[in-house]
Amino acid sequence: MKIIAIANQKGGVGKTTTSINLSAGLAARGKKTLLLDLDPQANATSGLGAEASSENCMYHPLLGQARIQDKIIPSRLENLSIVPGDMDLAGVEIELAQMDDYLTRLRTILESLRESHNFDFVILDTPPSLGVLMTSALAAADEIIIPLQCEWFGLEGLAKIIHVIERIKEAQVNPNVQLEGILMTMYDARTNLSKSVVEEVSKYFPEQLYRTFIPRSIRIGEAPSYGRTIFEHDPQGAGSLSYAGFADEFINRRAGRP
Ligand code: ATP
Ligand code: MG
Repeated sequence: MKIIAIANQKGGVGKTTTSINLSAGLAARGKKTLLLDLDPQANATSGLGAEASSENCMYHPLLGQARIQDKIIPSRLENLSIVPGDMDLAGVEIELAQMDDYLTRLRTILESLRESHNFDFVILDTPPSLGVLMTSALAAADEIIIPLQCEWFGLEGLAKIIHVIERIKEAQVNPNVQLEGILMTMYDARTNLSKSVVEEVSKYFPEQLYRTFIPRSIRIGEAPSYGRTIFEHDPQGAGSLSYAGFADEFINRRAGRP
């Protein structure tokens, strides 16, 4: 089981869209996948056509009042389960911050899933902040994927999150966490800006940059309003092909790794 955090403290860069469609893509390829919605906005939950739930979200497990195993529900899609988000998670930020072990609680909870061997991948969708939920996700993850919008300010945000990952490693909170990849989102091949942002990223992170770019696409933007993945919403479209390509690249990169 590998725990993958989809993270970027910058808002609106495609974290949730990537969480939903990577999870669906992995599930379609036969990988048992759990999508864990750690964002009080619960966009990953509604985008997948599931219901936000104060009862079933991570609120009680994070406070030690319930087991995550009892919060996992099947999604419409084969091989894909979800722990829904809920706005109650905003309260957990405050309550957790008062606990000494707040950073490692999520990690400990997910370790209990590892032992049950039910999942190949756990995908963490994180909120846009450097708060407790987001840092808990970084502390719990084996690997981090950073979706990066093809905009200039995106590069500044990238430097910041990489700094946070380094600090989490150095503080021995999660020394083995890997920056698995950087996924360019909302790419527009017609603009020089998109191209120069990609050039800049590939200069500093040649290994991490995924070769697949996610284009800016109206279909990708509207799919969540129908509660559908892009594969359901527009199976033949460019958005669908790009997220399928990304799921393949994600899996192929791991070939030969434990
Ligand atoms: P937040 O930080 O608020 O959680 P996020 O990083 O999770 O945001 P998304 O919610 O995935 O970002 O995307 C932000 C908005 O852009 C959403 O309305 C989404 O539907 C839209 N969007 C995401 N990816 C694309 C794309 N490739 N093309 C067009 N629109 C997109
Ligand atoms: Mg989001």
